[in-house]
Amino acid sequence: MSTQPAHPHHDEGHVVLVVNAGSSSIKCSVYRVIDDPKVEGGMRAIHGAGGQIEGIGVAPRVVAHMADGKLIVDEHFPVAQVADHDAAFRLLRLVLAVGLRETPPAAIGHRVVHGGPHYADAVLIDDKVIDELNALTPLAPLHQPHNLAAIRAVREAAPDLPQVACFDTAFHATTGVLAQLFALPYSYFADGIRRYGFHGLSYEYISRHLHLVAPDIARGRVIVAHLGNGASLCAMKNGKSVETTMGLTALDGLPMGTRCGALDAGVVLWMMERGMDHDAIEKLLYHDSGLKGLSGVSSDMRELLANDSEQAKLAIDFYTYRIAQEIGKLAVGLGGIDGLVFTAGIGENSAPIRAKVVERLKPLFGMEIDAEANAANHDHVSTRESRVPVFAIRTDEEGMIALHTARLLREMLKS
Ligand code: AMP
Repeated sequence: MSTQPAHPHHDEGHVVLVVNAGSSSIKCSVYRVIDDPKVEGGMRAIHGAGGQIEGIGVAPRVVAHMADGKLIVDEHFPVAQVADHDAAFRLLRLVLAVGLRETPPAAIGHRVVHGGPHYADAVLIDDKVIDELNALTPLAPLHQPHNLAAIRAVREAAPDLPQVACFDTAFHATTGVLAQLFALPYSYFADGIRRYGFHGLSYEYISRHLHLVAPDIARGRVIVAHLGNGASLCAMKNGKSVETTMGLTALDGLPMGTRCGALDAGVVLWMMERGMDHDAIEKLLYHDSGLKGLSGVSSDMRELLANDSEQAKLAIDFYTYRIAQEIGKLAVGLGGIDGLVFTAGIGENSAPIRAKVVERLKPLFGMEIDAEANAANHDHVSTRESRVPVFAIRTDEEGMIALHTARLLREMLKS
């Protein structure tokens, strides 16, 4: 990988490397961002080479492919060789250098989970930004340190390469005070203890995409259900977030793969009274709860759907009940609902989960699933008669990061 920004050729667009550093994996994808006056923002991101390391420090595996899909590597590594994120990132850079030989990136875009109260948009990274993001670590202890580690690793290896931070919280900067408040003494709100919400890059992508495929609906009141390992809902008016289910942290709202979602705060006090310390409670709420904890089988929806134990059924029932319930809650804030969108791993692929959620909403909103379109994962999965149209749309958080990064790179080159 070159340490110098590549010269931009406007006709060929900019090459951007998108980095998504999670707690046990790092994913890198190359995008070429080109002009396209037909789409919102005037730019389009085209996916190229990519790779990921998963199982860092446990069972490291590297998979990478060229832009044409040809496999560069699929290999397991000894734990000692990829013991932490620094080692993983060094290895991934070596691997991706093959895929990038012809086209070194002009900038790197990072997914950063928390932008706090001040970042309402993506930002070009400098020392001050790194310090501010570091100060937000207590708000996202499981994610923010890994995001920052990747930023620092790139700065060390290629100090001149522009880097951009794209936040999961930024899209929700448009929510109002009622959507952000907790009923604690008001000074907590002033100190930043409020509902920020996450999955913002996914919601932003869906908002733009819906404006292309169903512009009338997109201008109205839409609820988007991002159902992956993490899960949340976003209520949008004219494409802007007005309310969301995750909170100060990514623990609130819907039950998820391993996270509990909304919980009576008294339960945490009960745990403390019984001597559980911070780490034990954190592990329970983030890693051992949700679908995994309820079912005792798995956090993976495919495995749960294939399992006929009562516990797995209960977990799925509770999951779909809670999604429908929270959709009802968000509809109050919107004053009604004109469209429902499912996205992310479960939302895009699981017809039975979509059907169960919509079935519960039918008496309230008159939504009706079209069984055939739903089974085929079509974009539009409701019947013609459905009072509210229902969609299943593939999200692209990384493409969104590529677009933000190219935009800020252009602004930087112009100034
Ligand atoms: P994500 O975090 O967006 O990658 O989503 C991961 C979740 O999507 C896991 O719970 C998977 O089991 C689930 N998923 C992926 N494909 C399917 C599918 N065909 N049916 C049901 N769940 C799926």
